[in-house]
Amino acid sequence: MEFSTGFELRERQGVWYCVIPSFERTGLVSHGFSTRKGGVSTRQYGTLNLGFNKGDSSDAVMENFLRFCRALDVDPHDTVFSDQVHGDKVAVVGIGDRGKGVFKESDILQADGLMTGEKQVALVTFYADCVPLFFLDPIRRAIALSHAGWRGTVACIGAKTLESMRQQFGTRPEECLIGIGPSIGPCCFEVDPPVAQQFAEIFAKYEDIIIKPGSQPGKYRIDLWMANALQLKEMGVPPRNITVAGMCTSCRQDLFFSHRRDKGNTGRMVAMLMLKG
Ligand SMILES: [Zn+2]
Repeated sequence: MEFSTGFELRERQGVWYCVIPSFERTGLVSHGFSTRKGGVSTRQYGTLNLGFNKGDSSDAVMENFLRFCRALDVDPHDTVFSDQVHGDKVAVVGIGDRGKGVFKESDILQADGLMTGEKQVALVTFYADCVPLFFLDPIRRAIALSHAGWRGTVACIGAKTLESMRQQFGTRPEECLIGIGPSIGPCCFEVDPPVAQQFAEIFAKYEDIIIKPGSQPGKYRIDLWMANALQLKEMGVPPRNITVAGMCTSCRQDLFFSHRRDKGNTGRMVAMLMLKG
């Protein structure tokens, strides 16, 4: 593959999470993608469920959240959540938004992407199969996270996030580092013809790379990782700057929650990214 591959799995104080080697090498950010290992939740939420208001005990989720923040050296008061709706809107946030989500209700509505150029602002987005996109502009010191499910992917939220960073911070795609995190893989993400058709239209040039025959006639497998990687490459990000985790949330029941595998009855992982102070 022309893209870089592999996030690294880490354990710190009992909490397991994944990191992007290229991001770590810059020394500029605290970041990670959580797993299900290292928390206090039980049953289908076992154990590191970070989804608030998903039926799990709120005390357990808060304890899990504090543990995950501690593992990443992030002050929980510095975190910012948005309200994700499988859309393509990217919100700029800053110091004044810290605490929104955990300590007060977030008023950052209908945003599936968050970005900032300020230090000590920890962006947080939630997942249970959708694709987490991490962005780091090490030159202009700006970061972003976006939540790309299949709807976000065909709405090109990755390209829109990069374009928003260009407008807001002067980010140049050729200098940007990208991480495409653990999410449902081409092995497990099977769809019906209407969804495959949308991918075929948006990614006509790469149709044979991202759409494959499914397990039954009339079903198709979609490669969301490649769809996002190619979209960002087309924006001008060098393939070597794009790291694909290549970890399937549905296959790796030992590590991840999966909305599809667990039929909606499951926990959530988070992506967290912060410019260090
Ligand atoms: Zn899989």
